[in-house]
Amino acid sequence: MLNEHTSNISSIEHSGIEPFSRTLSRHGLQLNRNNTHTLQVNLGIRCNQTCGHCHLNAGPGRKENMDPGIIREIISYAQRSKFETIDITGGAPELNPNIGMMIEEVFSLCPRIMLRSNLSALNDGRREYLFELLKAHRIVIVASFPSLNEAQTDSQRGDRIFQTTIDALKKLNAMGYGHEGSGLELSLVSNPTGAFLPPNQAQTEKRFRQVLKRKWGIVFNNLFNFANVPLGRFRQWLVETNNLDNYMGKLYSSFNPCSVDGLMCRSLVSVSWDGYLYDCDFNLARELFMGGHKIHVSEMSGPPPPHSHIATADHCYTCTAGSGFT
Ligand code: SF4
Repeated sequence: MLNEHTSNISSIEHSGIEPFSRTLSRHGLQLNRNNTHTLQVNLGIRCNQTCGHCHLNAGPGRKENMDPGIIREIISYAQRSKFETIDITGGAPELNPNIGMMIEEVFSLCPRIMLRSNLSALNDGRREYLFELLKAHRIVIVASFPSLNEAQTDSQRGDRIFQTTIDALKKLNAMGYGHEGSGLELSLVSNPTGAFLPPNQAQTEKRFRQVLKRKWGIVFNNLFNFANVPLGRFRQWLVETNNLDNYMGKLYSSFNPCSVDGLMCRSLVSVSWDGYLYDCDFNLARELFMGGHKIHVSEMSGPPPPHSHIATADHCYTCTAGSGFT
């Protein structure tokens, strides 16, 4: 499945390391789809933050936002595809004025709806209705919370972001989110603040749980500890600080063949703000269309079939480093 597209993508592989597709072949592996059960919807690239690690180059200056026409196309696609999970993301998806419409329409189509939030957009003082809507429909919240260090967080994400995020977590806890048995799931995502790979996930989760509880009384369900993807603003920073080769080398040397089976692109399809399909959000950032073909959501009769091709490039090494990125 890899071969027909390898020539198309060779130009975007990082020159210092073996192309990702060749590494897979060397291990006797192929990367193609399993059953696709998750639809990821990128509501836009606008964001209130300009994080240094953002693979999408999102920020306040970006204008791309999904319009109601595309949202209707996506709702229709979800109706004919029967996904198990719909994963709403951005940019900051809260900044799309149509997010309420999206949630109201899709929550009856799918058993699990997730919202990826940076929390500061949600907690900007203008979105009380959204807090209530999330709770009413038991939307799973996956919140980025990069570090327990206030200075580090603010330098990566912007002034006072750490405190706004803590306030948002307290508010969500007061609504029932993050408490065992409440049915209101709150998970955190942390990531390194430099050109290194994340530490052990279980240990990080334990530490975050202890510190958040002790200092602020905050609880959560799970913590995911992900490596930064060398795309967008993070790639630019790696280049500017002369760290790109070193970082790519770390990802490459941490390649774990056992991670390939569980990669998210095997079971997820990602749709961009303008309705085009990608194998994941990282490929969206890289403008690598699903399976190497430009297809609009309105053209799809259902989920991409099992065994279909997944487009890959050097950033895929992020997903296969260590325990993987699922
Ligand atoms: S970046 Fe990761 S999820 Fe996306 S296609 Fe590559 S391996 Fe799959």
